[in-house]
Amino acid sequence: MSMKKLELYVHIPFCEEKCRYCDFLSFRADDSEKKAYVNQLIEEIKAQGQNYGEYLVSSIFIGGGTPTTLSGIWILDIMNAIRENFIVETDAEVSIECNPGTLSKSKIMHIKKAGINRISFGLQSSIEEELKELGRIHTYKDFLQSYQLAREYGFTNINVDLMSGLPNQTIDSYKTTLKRVCALKPEHISAYSLIIEPDTPFFDKYGSEEGSLLLPDENIDREMYALTKNILREHGYERYEISNYAKLGRECRHNIGYWTGVSYLGLGVGASGYVMNRRFHVESDYRKYMSVKMQQDITPLYRDLEELDIKANMEEFMFLGLRLTRGVSRHEFNERFGVDMFEVFDRQIKRNMMLKLMEYNSPNLRLTEKGLDLSNMVMSDFLLD
Ligand code: SF4
Repeated sequence: MSMKKLELYVHIPFCEEKCRYCDFLSFRADDSEKKAYVNQLIEEIKAQGQNYGEYLVSSIFIGGGTPTTLSGIWILDIMNAIRENFIVETDAEVSIECNPGTLSKSKIMHIKKAGINRISFGLQSSIEEELKELGRIHTYKDFLQSYQLAREYGFTNINVDLMSGLPNQTIDSYKTTLKRVCALKPEHISAYSLIIEPDTPFFDKYGSEEGSLLLPDENIDREMYALTKNILREHGYERYEISNYAKLGRECRHNIGYWTGVSYLGLGVGASGYVMNRRFHVESDYRKYMSVKMQQDITPLYRDLEELDIKANMEEFMFLGLRLTRGVSRHEFNERFGVDMFEVFDRQIKRNMMLKLMEYNSPNLRLTEKGLDLSNMVMSDFLLD
């Protein structure tokens, strides 16, 4: 009997400094705090490993925060604990998020030794003033050094994260960033627009009507969006998801799993999971997380446990799957839910096809170029009454 597939997400909540737009669960900590967290995380890994013996782990994503603020040895300890307590596929994709300026030779050696085979760099911009305004700790030069180091140590699967719609960003400066990054030939590029989140310094500065005038306006934003698609296409990157581009065969397997409904288990403070139709969050209060006795009972770890009914599952399958440019497979939908998606979503599919926002190319239903541009609108249509 084949084993069930599982993806692991491991959350490291530490950063050197808090970026001014960030609302992720991350904060500064000293080495003893970091070490205590790693110990607690390893206990959680051991406890959870016992519950997932019938699963085969196909991908691992160590994210944050900034996982590379941990020492190399601790990263190795975490990966060893995962391999000792879960069954991990031999060729699993194992990614780590890395902020330029937090990588050293010794760290990259440990990352390699830990079997991590994909590095995701949070560059965001190659322009110093833009990086400064974002509150990033690194310069473009730091990024180049970290990137070269990763290549020198044999990493052949690298992602670079970029952002558009930034304060002071112009079409020209964004073009410069895109071109500089393409010239380095990373295997994967993620390109997102800045979102102003509540309770951040950026919200205080740019969240009001007046403040928003300091950001690139909607037309510039649209132009940057088009530039991303065009420049990346010219450089051989295929857009496979709304904000993600890759060289052939280098799509992020972990994220594709998430968008296609593969079970994933979150480990670490605030991480979320979705296994066997159940969605949950690990405790996001750091103190409470640290006080759970992992060897005794891990139930206090879980928050917002929610059993998704078939309707919620079908909705989720559609609006996550439609993020992918290949769309959702009618066969897969049928296999999973025992019913035809053209029956369940008859009104939505007809309406969006009529508006040329969606097309059916058997067996896949997908968004058209115009549909991808208006994806939020199309996807909200897929909420069943
Ligand atoms: S590095 Fe990432 S997680 Fe850390 S503060 Fe900046 S945006 Fe947030």
